[in-house]
Amino acid sequence: MNKIYDYAVVGAGLSGLTLSYHLADQAPSDADIALLDMRADYQMDRIWCYWDVLSHPFLETVQHTWHSWRVRHKGQEVTQTSEQYPYHYIPADRFYDTAFKKISAHGGFELHLGQGVDALEPEGDRINIKVGDRMLSARQVYDGRLIGSDLSRWRCLLQHYGGQIVETNRTVFDPDTITLMDFDIPQTNGIAFVYVLPFSRQRALIEPTIFSYRPLNMDHYRSIIKSYLHERYHVTKYTVEFEEKGIIPMRPQAPPAQAAERIRPIGTQAGMVKGSTGYGFLSIQKSTPLLVQQALASHQSRRRVPRSNFSIWLDTVFLRYIEQHPGHAPEIFFNLFDRVKPDALVRFLSDVARPADYSAVIRAMPKWPFLKAAAGLKRRLVQKKREAAAAIPGG
Ligand SMILES: Cc1cc2nc3c(=O)[nH]c(=O)nc-3n(C[C@H](O)[C@H](O)[C@H](O)COP(=O)(O)OP(=O)(O)OC[C@H]3O[C@@H](n4cnc5c(N)ncnc54)[C@H](O)[C@@H]3O)c2cc1C
Repeated sequence: MNKIYDYAVVGAGLSGLTLSYHLADQAPSDADIALLDMRADYQMDRIWCYWDVLSHPFLETVQHTWHSWRVRHKGQEVTQTSEQYPYHYIPADRFYDTAFKKISAHGGFELHLGQGVDALEPEGDRINIKVGDRMLSARQVYDGRLIGSDLSRWRCLLQHYGGQIVETNRTVFDPDTITLMDFDIPQTNGIAFVYVLPFSRQRALIEPTIFSYRPLNMDHYRSIIKSYLHERYHVTKYTVEFEEKGIIPMRPQAPPAQAAERIRPIGTQAGMVKGSTGYGFLSIQKSTPLLVQQALASHQSRRRVPRSNFSIWLDTVFLRYIEQHPGHAPEIFFNLFDRVKPDALVRFLSDVARPADYSAVIRAMPKWPFLKAAAGLKRRLVQKKREAAAAIPGG
């Protein structure tokens, strides 16, 4: 008879590896765990940044830290500084190394890398996992596959970006302050800004980011980087050491996944990436220990996103407003950084806001337009509820 794994983690990206790390730490040594991913190569393919508002086991992988960040809009600049919550940078290769080291130390993991999972099929008390012409089975599956090309499923505004780590021939960057958003670039393909992470006076990640419905190809981002280096820093000569490209759906929550009781979506699929900011690293770190506790207690609870309903609601109103008024987005972001104290804003952006933080953020937003967007959202929800009730016989 074929082996039945206790757990299978499908998709060994950020969420799958974080989950596997915690399983390796806490699961009994005789637990059988399968870890599957379509890729076999784990190199430096992206970077993760986040504000240090909570601890997690990957702190040793942090390679750079800043305490100050600026936002630019219409020639104005606001700089915020926080001693309490530094901004951390983790290169993906360091994260992968740490995760795989922990996983291999457990002894119960079997890695199935280099071949995509085609289907997850429930059968009795197990899930069959179809991988090419092989079939594996597990009692519990965590599905962290993020199918980049399937973005049509999300039907929403996208945050898309392409960045390069460049080395310039002159000292031009301010290594103490990151540029979170520089809106002073042509707003041609959507709401556009440049993100700059300065690692030294000559080395930085330059990343044009755009909110629109259609992603661009890498050449577009490369040409924005070239113009930006020229316009902002008068640099024409530079070498490129690394490139990354990303597309993040700007939705407060993932669309409901077609999952069975024993298949639990994780990561982006489970709504862990905040729609309005595109940040997901920390919420994945925050939610995973609970998921592992539940897994080890064989406790199947309802799927929950580790974000408060109020935070999701605020994200929804915000996203609805900027979809309707894209031209206002730069000013709204600028005002947030200008009017809300840094620590409160960081807690809000990192989904650990206190009531006073929410009220500071709401005070910094334009009142009437937001109330209108909120009222429109409420009308739509009520309408949807009525339609759902009408569809149920006797409802
Ligand atoms: C370039 C980039 C930069 C980002 N930067 C930040 C940041 O600075 N800070 C932040 O907080 N968030 C950031 N994010 C957002 C978020 O944190 C990341 O997208 C994060 O990697 C999401 O984790 P995940 O597990 O959902 O997806 P991923 O990490 O993308 O993992 C998905 C995995 O599924 C695998 N897979 C897909 N299909 C199959 C299949 N059929 N079979 C088997 N395996 C499959 C993939 O190979 C991949 O390993 C960034 C996102 C991107 C794309």
